[in-house]
Amino acid sequence: MYNSRKKPMEETPEEITTIWSCTSETCKGWMRDNFAFSTQPTCSLCGSVMEKSEKKLVILVNNSFAPSKNS
Ligand SMILES: [Zn+2]
Repeated sequence: MYNSRKKPMEETPEEITTIWSCTSETCKGWMRDNFAFSTQPTCSLCGSVMEKSEKKLVILVNNSFAPSKNS
C-alpha cells in the first residue's frame, strides 16, 4: 500500500524573464519585455524611463491551446 500524499503546494514553474523595470526608486512599475515596445518604453505609472532587467516570473500557461475534446 502506498501512502502517496500530494504535496501541499504544487511547485509553480518559474523562469528568468527579461523585463522592463522603472528606474524610479519610488516606483515599482515594470512590464514583461514581450509585452513592451521594441523601443525603450516609459513607465505607465510615473512616466519615468525604464531599463531592461530580469525577473523570476511564473511561466504563463496559455490555456487557449488546450486540446479540444472529441465530441
Ligand atoms: Zn514608474
